Amino acid sequence: THFGFRQVPEEEKETLVGGVFSSVASNYDLMNDSMSLGIHRLWKDSFVKSLVPRLPPSRHSPGNEIWQPSFKCLDVAGGTGDIALRILDRAREQYGNRDVEVEIVDLNQGMLDEGRKRVAKTMYYNTPQISFTHGNAQSLPSHIASNSIDLYTIAFGIRNCTSLPAVLSEAFRVLKPGGKLGVLEFGKVGNPLFAQIYRQYSFSFIPIMGKILAGDSESYRYLVESIEKFPTQEEFATLVQQAGFQTGQLREGKGGAWTDFTGGIATMWTGVKA
Ligand code: SAM
Repeated sequence: THFGFRQVPEEEKETLVGGVFSSVASNYDLMNDSMSLGIHRLWKDSFVKSLVPRLPPSRHSPGNEIWQPSFKCLDVAGGTGDIALRILDRAREQYGNRDVEVEIVDLNQGMLDEGRKRVAKTMYYNTPQISFTHGNAQSLPSHIASNSIDLYTIAFGIRNCTSLPAVLSEAFRVLKPGGKLGVLEFGKVGNPLFAQIYRQYSFSFIPIMGKILAGDSESYRYLVESIEKFPTQEEFATLVQQAGFQTGQLREGKGGAWTDFTGGIATMWTGVKA
């Protein structure tokens, strides 16, 4: 056990994860902002910025003609659409491109419903640019064909999955040759002093905030534990390689397999299906 908290057996994991995300679906965005002090927004901005390539301007506007996306993304564990909406916004604002399509896949119906409500307030509502699917990262819904996806993203979701290799091999399968994988997840903090401060913060502040905002501190303790149990940056990069992806060298930074944000509190791993 860490700090006297009990380890959660695997079979309890999905129930607990379900509980956390059902109890917070409606104020999920508030939770993220308060627990990360708003910093998750910057991580997500950087993540999306580095993954969406230069795109040609739209060939046609969504809603007209036959929809043929020029760039197809799958945002797995996409929750309320934080990553999906950033992808669409970036394509439109940066490249004037509205031919991008993002399909969100999530295990939790409450999160999908919140995402739909949120999209209803955007210009993407009722366009083929965004869709929501109930499904599991470890065995993606069958309509998502092998070799059909240009960009696969999973942000703060893979940590909750029972089998990391299963998720990664599904990602590899559905990506087109040349398609890209982007994983954003909590990493390990390198600096020992900063690591100590972060640990204190996680094991005191997060469960208290969870209790206040969601009425539940036990599930939040589990979330903190799940961050600690997640592999190191290098171990996870190795799993990405073992799933068949080409990555940078096994190190952090430019030309490396991962990029740390905020000293490693969050990390982005990328890989290409060659
Ligand atoms: N990607 C969003 C973001 O960054 O804001 C949501 C992240 S949220 C912390 C984690 C999400 O993973 C939840 O919506 C949860 O339902 C989903 N999830 C957990 N296990 C999953 C699985 N095996 N397959 C698909 N989604 C899963």
